[in-house]
Amino acid sequence: MEPQRSPLLAVKGNIELKTPQVKVPSRLPLPGSRCKRGPDQMEDVLEPEKKRTRGLGTATRFAPSHPKAPVLTTVSQAQGRTAAPKVPKRTGPRCSTAVAAVLKNRKPGPAVPAQKPGTAAASPKPEGKKPGKRPAWDLKGQLCDLKAELKGCRERTQTLDQENQQLRAQLREAQQQATALGAERRTLEGELARVRAQAEHGQQQLGTLSARVLELEERLGTQESLVQALQKEQLGLQEERRQLAARLEEQERRLQASEAALSGSQAEVASLREATAAQAVTLAERGEQLHGLEMERRRLHNQLQELKGNIRVFCRVRPVLPGEPAPPPGFLLFPSGPAGPLDPPTHLSLLRSDERRGTLSGAPAPPTRHDFSFDRVFPPGSGQDEVFEEIAMLVQSALDGYPVCIFAYGQTGSGKTFTMEGGPGGDPQVEGLIPRALRHLFSVAQELSSQGWTYSFVASYVEIYNETVRDLLATRARKGQGGDCEIHRAGPGSEELTVTNARYVPVSCEREVEALLQLARQNRAVARTAQNERSSRSHSVFQLQISGEHAGRGLQCGAPLNLVDLAGSERLDPGLALGPGERERLRETQAINSSLSTLGLVIMALSNKESHVPYRNSKLTYLLQNSLGGSAKMLMFVNISPLEENVSETLNSLRFASKVNQCVIGTAQANRK
Ligand code: ADP
Ligand code: MG
Repeated sequence: MEPQRSPLLAVKGNIELKTPQVKVPSRLPLPGSRCKRGPDQMEDVLEPEKKRTRGLGTATRFAPSHPKAPVLTTVSQAQGRTAAPKVPKRTGPRCSTAVAAVLKNRKPGPAVPAQKPGTAAASPKPEGKKPGKRPAWDLKGQLCDLKAELKGCRERTQTLDQENQQLRAQLREAQQQATALGAERRTLEGELARVRAQAEHGQQQLGTLSARVLELEERLGTQESLVQALQKEQLGLQEERRQLAARLEEQERRLQASEAALSGSQAEVASLREATAAQAVTLAERGEQLHGLEMERRRLHNQLQELKGNIRVFCRVRPVLPGEPAPPPGFLLFPSGPAGPLDPPTHLSLLRSDERRGTLSGAPAPPTRHDFSFDRVFPPGSGQDEVFEEIAMLVQSALDGYPVCIFAYGQTGSGKTFTMEGGPGGDPQVEGLIPRALRHLFSVAQELSSQGWTYSFVASYVEIYNETVRDLLATRARKGQGGDCEIHRAGPGSEELTVTNARYVPVSCEREVEALLQLARQNRAVARTAQNERSSRSHSVFQLQISGEHAGRGLQCGAPLNLVDLAGSERLDPGLALGPGERERLRETQAINSSLSTLGLVIMALSNKESHVPYRNSKLTYLLQNSLGGSAKMLMFVNISPLEENVSETLNSLRFASKVNQCVIGTAQANRK
């Protein structure tokens, strides 16, 4: 039995062994030789606490080579199945615990040494149950003990070394496995990454394919609807084709019928052409006949006019106007002609009661009856159309190439302007002779155009006041140019007279004529404000140059139609005192009377076939020279007032007109070339 030793001594002994002061010869290894054994062998002799700490340190040192716990765990488990069962047999409890802690990588808590049955008998001795404690003097015994202990320690050390070797080998193996596993893991990770990338790529492709599938589905839907529409359209077209085929058949049937009809028609056309040619020949013959008839009509018409007289006088009595005193009954009488009341009146009687004259008994003298006879008398109720009807034939003569002159003679207010131009307001019922005559001429010219006649009309309208000529158609632009209007021959050796600085306006329709009359009215109105009642003291001469041509026969005819609204024929009362204003009026009146009497004288000279006709004595007769006498036809309206107060002037007018009416001017000849 080994003597028991106290732990203190054991420690002391250890210390002494380590120190050089221990002189006792011992087989214990010297510090230098111990160092050669390596740190692991040294650790076995350290205190348990210290070893636990180092064990931890060893574990820590192993850690970098086994960074990942799961791998170690796997290794540990593998070892647990293979090597672990051997360990407890060879190693002491402290070493196995430390190694187990390292291998399992578990929390290195306080290492509780596992008591092994084999080691339990040896280890308790030095710690507590040391049987037979040797006395202090028993050094030899103690030495023996120590040697035994040392031997045990060495054995344990060897065991631990072997265990350590095995563990290291296991560790290396585990490390190699870990390295291999790590490499495998990296490979797997790489593969995983590749697989993931492939999966992502696959996802992308899947997405693209899905989109493509959707798109294709959509297109398929569109194509289907298109196909449906096309099918529908095809059906419609087939139907249309059927209808067209039916129509074509119908058209062909009709065409055949039409062709049959055409051949019939062609035969008809041929016969019609023949008939037309025959008719053209007949037409030409008829045209010839018509022309002959037209010329005959003109000749007869002229004869009729001549029979009526180349100078005709119509008397027109205007109605009593509102506000005027009614004339006494029987003041004007219109006796019927020989054919009775249906005969147009040609006679007029005026009853004049002269208060200055008295009978011997002192009773008022009976009224004096003045009878007049004219080519026609128009009582107050006669309308404008009625009047025009009478002169229409005369106007027709102008178209046939005979100069025509129509005058309106009478005192102011007797209805001259009303007769010539018309009443106020533009009422067609009261249209005067000028617009009616032109309308008639335009319409007859239109009719004659079918016989090959072409007519043109040029209008002028002048005013002769105090022996000066003024253009009534002057426009503002023209007025600005100034220049007097003078009557001249159109050219050297020409019979035609023209007024210089006056407008000659071509007219072809009523509207143009109405515009000219309107312009003349405006020009007269302006003059009226400047000089009182000028219009009544001036002659207005509307001239229409008519030119006709029959190109087919080389015929031409031309004549002027003159429509003259003469100045008031009233005379100035010689008993009146003449003031400064009156003198001017006297001069005017003398000029008027002079021109009117010149007109009378010219007519007389023509009637008497005098060698000298005083045309040049007044501007009026000079201007109308070509329309008075010779081949000309003349008509004078004597306009009279129905009022008793105008009886004196009325008688004067009627007397003048009667004189004219007695004139007969030689046979008129048409101006034919
Ligand atoms: P003159 O030109 O002779 O001076 P007007 O033609 O100016 O006379 O006529 C004078 C007035 O008498 C005008 O108001 C006119 O309308 C009217 N008058 C003239 N004749 C007729 C008629 N036949 N019917 C109705 N009114 C007329
Ligand atoms: Mg007048």
